[in-house]
Amino acid sequence: MSSNQRGMAFIDYDNIAIPAKNFFSIQFLDFNTLRNILLNNYRGVGCTVYLPYKMRNLLGPIQRSGLDCEVVNPRKSVDGRLILDAIIEAEANSYDTAIIASGDKDYVRLVNTLKRKNKDVIIASFSQNLSHALRSIADGIIDLDTHTPTLSTQLYTHTCSSCGNSFQLPFRFRGPNPLCNNCRP
Ligand SMILES: [Zn+2]
Repeated sequence: MSSNQRGMAFIDYDNIAIPAKNFFSIQFLDFNTLRNILLNNYRGVGCTVYLPYKMRNLLGPIQRSGLDCEVVNPRKSVDGRLILDAIIEAEANSYDTAIIASGDKDYVRLVNTLKRKNKDVIIASFSQNLSHALRSIADGIIDLDTHTPTLSTQLYTHTCSSCGNSFQLPFRFRGPNPLCNNCRP
């Protein structure tokens, strides 16, 4: 693997964030770290998070982490948008290797299509939700299980100025009166 290889990363948000939460209790992913893990062996030419509309409040934090972010319209498929972009960028020869962060078997046809276009395809996934079909056709696997100690954003504990309960945020609250989720208007 050469660092001259152009790598473009495509992150299926739900497919990474939900297992991170369910299996590893990661409440807030550190997207900057995730990007570095995905593009570690490549010259990074793009890294996009595909975000379902219901999670659109994460657009700002993800962009501030330095990643591109596409909020997918509620009537459209997140997978479909990711697949379309990966094929369009392959047609434009924008990358040599696609790094797809998802273990969903719905991407098998995409991987086969990209390989026919002479692209390498790396799959990054937690082991619990990596489809066997994807594992068998990928040119390489990034096992996110091994990266879980660094994938969690640092959490800061605050005391609610209204009810006095302690709660956590992925950033340090700057204002004078922090409010927990229950007390926030
Ligand atoms: Zn409170």
